[in-house]
Amino acid sequence: MTAHTHPLGVVAQLDENDLREFDEDLRGDLIFPDSEEYEDARNVWNGLINEYPAVIVRVNGASDVARSVTFARDNNLELAIRSGAHHQAGSAIVEGGLVIDLEEMNTVRVDAEKQVAHVQPGTRTEDVLAETQQYGPATPTGSAGEVGIPGSTLGGGIGWIRRKHGLGIDALRSVEIVTPDGELREASPDHNEDLFWAIRGGGGNFGVVTNFEFELYEVGPIVQALGIFYPYDAAEDVLETHRQVMSDASEELTTILLSGHIPGLPPMPDELAGTDAVGSTIPRTSSTATLPSVLTTRNTVPIA
Ligand SMILES: Cc1cc2nc3c(=O)[nH]c(=O)nc-3n(C[C@H](O)[C@H](O)[C@H](O)COP(=O)(O)OP(=O)(O)OC[C@H]3O[C@@H](n4cnc5c(N)ncnc54)[C@H](O)[C@@H]3O)c2cc1C
Repeated sequence: MTAHTHPLGVVAQLDENDLREFDEDLRGDLIFPDSEEYEDARNVWNGLINEYPAVIVRVNGASDVARSVTFARDNNLELAIRSGAHHQAGSAIVEGGLVIDLEEMNTVRVDAEKQVAHVQPGTRTEDVLAETQQYGPATPTGSAGEVGIPGSTLGGGIGWIRRKHGLGIDALRSVEIVTPDGELREASPDHNEDLFWAIRGGGGNFGVVTNFEFELYEVGPIVQALGIFYPYDAAEDVLETHRQVMSDASEELTTILLSGHIPGLPPMPDELAGTDAVGSTIPRTSSTATLPSVLTTRNTVPIA
């Protein structure tokens, strides 16, 4: 047994021979608590999360993922899946366990003729849209550019074109997934249908997705976006107006209503810094039309 230590203490004791064999089987890299890359590799979006995995496997392909799943199982290591590392609860990392880090599996391949995109799990919203927009279409993704595709899609995937095209899981045609027995499987409406049903909302509980196939939709060519915030005491009026406007608005218009304390940070308006506010962010994709005037006037403080 070899102890893998960190300045704060021993993180894990793992068998040296097992580790050597594991390392030899991999195309990717093992990162230990005493490796130079460890601090960066264990960081997640939520800076309050501070956990120390025994080993981080920076995988390079589905075979590395399968091997990591079996290594974790054989060594009784708790397993975490890290794609965009954006989950609020920090579930991409695990204390004393094994992390499958997919960040280097990050290609996006667009098939313009079939109107689909093949997306690897190390990608974020901004990576996928950058590639699909070379051809014009888009697929429903998270609304923030840095959100990871896997976690957001497998949790549903709430994005900017959802009123017309639905959630991320509605655009999902198939996945390749390594299941807990270490097998690589396809799941789609025609293969392993029950597994396909389960992952569309079931998060990382059924395996590690190594490839997503998404349907693409035409958008634009004009994409408008606007953020409007009102003082919190106008909330009742804002919510009622919002309800009325959206009840017969075009499906190309999507809104997200927000309420909360406004930080004094861009792109929030200085006038509202430190106050409570209610507001809406509104993107719209269309060929010609403009935003309904009721959403763009009346005591608004536009932020974008
Ligand atoms: C600022 C902010 C904005 C957000 N905006 C949106 C939004 O607009 N729309 C939206 O839908 N969500 C949004 N979210 C929530 C987001 O969907 C989740 O945080 C999501 O988990 C992030 O995905 P990730 O790949 O970065 O996850 P990670 O943090 O890498 O992983 C989180 C979990 O997802 C699962 N998972 C990750 N990768 C895989 C994989 N390859 N195979 C199987 N399971 C996997 C695992 O259970 C893992 O523990 C937002 C979150 C934040 C913090």
